[in-house]
Amino acid sequence: MEFDTIAAISTPMGEGAIAIVRLSGSEAIAIADRLFKGKGKKRLNDVPSHTLHYGHIIDPADGRTVEEVMVAVMRAPKTFTREDVVEINCHGGLVSVHRILQLVLTNGARLAEPGEFTKRAFLNGRIDLSQAEAVIDLIRAKTDRAMNVALNQMEGRLSKMIRQLRQTILETLAHVEVNIDYPEYDDVEEMTHRLLLEKSQYVRSEIERLLQTAHQGKILREGLATVIIGRPNVGKSSLLNSLVHENKAIVTDIPGTTRDVIEEYVNVRGVPLKLIDTAGIRETEDVVERIGVERSKQMVKEADLVLFVLNYNEPLTEEDEQLFESVKEKDVIIIVNKTDLPQRIDMERVKQLANEHPIIATSLLEEKGIDQLEEAISTLFFAGAVEAADLTYVSNSRHIALLHQAKKAIEEAIAGIEAGVPIDIVQIDLTRAWELLGEIVGDTVHESLIDQLFSQFCLGK
Ligand code: GDP
Ligand code: ZN
Repeated sequence: MEFDTIAAISTPMGEGAIAIVRLSGSEAIAIADRLFKGKGKKRLNDVPSHTLHYGHIIDPADGRTVEEVMVAVMRAPKTFTREDVVEINCHGGLVSVHRILQLVLTNGARLAEPGEFTKRAFLNGRIDLSQAEAVIDLIRAKTDRAMNVALNQMEGRLSKMIRQLRQTILETLAHVEVNIDYPEYDDVEEMTHRLLLEKSQYVRSEIERLLQTAHQGKILREGLATVIIGRPNVGKSSLLNSLVHENKAIVTDIPGTTRDVIEEYVNVRGVPLKLIDTAGIRETEDVVERIGVERSKQMVKEADLVLFVLNYNEPLTEEDEQLFESVKEKDVIIIVNKTDLPQRIDMERVKQLANEHPIIATSLLEEKGIDQLEEAISTLFFAGAVEAADLTYVSNSRHIALLHQAKKAIEEAIAGIEAGVPIDIVQIDLTRAWELLGEIVGDTVHESLIDQLFSQFCLGK
């Protein structure tokens, strides 16, 4: 496919003083050549592929030097987009990178749409759809673990698993077809049924296995929705502060977060917590005081994790018991705070109410117990899970939805086989499952979905 040459600022992930203007397309090298002045009479057009060149960006209009740069020249097809790619690395701040982009645009390139580089990689056959989506996730990844999940996906692990399942279905369908066409054995019908059932059950269990990872995958990607509740003055704000200060706060750039709800992202031992609260939290105001028990019950409903704070120095109250009632179905960690003060709480009763939920004693004032709390959070989340690095998590909600639909189609096929319905009906369900799985890797998607997906990207990717 032939496209025009696009350009955008493509700042590398993480913090970095270097900014990159990236160009892709058949004119990329020629355009860069118009602006680049290297040693002697060096022209980028003549340099070998995948080489880096020191020099300056000159404004051809007035010959003035704009910026000191390193330019990477990468020729098609061994590039991310499979087109000629030029990356202009500059050390200057935002202003100079924008000036370079401006020059590139006035000298023949077009400003890329969000996600257009990745879209080209997809359209040029360099990556499949689930890999493209992994790029979105990578941009948004909040912790190293989430990054690993996205990286695995980008390397095509999920695609590989999905393709194997599709292959299994296809082979089974082919087999059945052959059996129908050549019914030379007496027991062919029985054999066909047995094969169909076996293979369908196998595909179902594989889909289920993938879906089991979905919840964790989603949390890794979006953060564990966490609320801190408790009566006024027990230490909620102090807890929030120590969690935020002890841990690396994660900066988020997800669009659409509303102003009146503050979300603090912190990375607790690889678990991204999305500490949710109303604007009050920032002002260290008292949420429960202000919004009352009713509202905290609502917040609890929407949470993945509840941190329930009690005061070691005060007896349990009716309100505490009410709060216990509202969290008992949840993943909750009970924090008994202010252990530096004399005990007035009935710990036996707390244990009774807590039931199976972990209880952590803290003195936030003396910075005690925070380690144990963090340990409890990570245990809760990673309980029974193998270390995340080599698991293929499904974390994308589109993939999850498709897997659920595919599972349903397979289940219908299985039910049909067991009920002895005609084979061609079963074939329809299996074909449907095969198509649905295909949508995950992009083998059967249509144009509008593709456009919608790629428009989610940040500029420059
Ligand atoms: P919130 O109303 O639940 O948000 O509670 P705060 O975090 O605002 O804390 C209420 C008061 O308790 C503040 O004066 C804190 O300094 C104090 N406090 C918090 N944690 C501890 C603790 O572990 N020990 C003691 N003695 N005081 C604490
Ligand atoms: Zn408070």
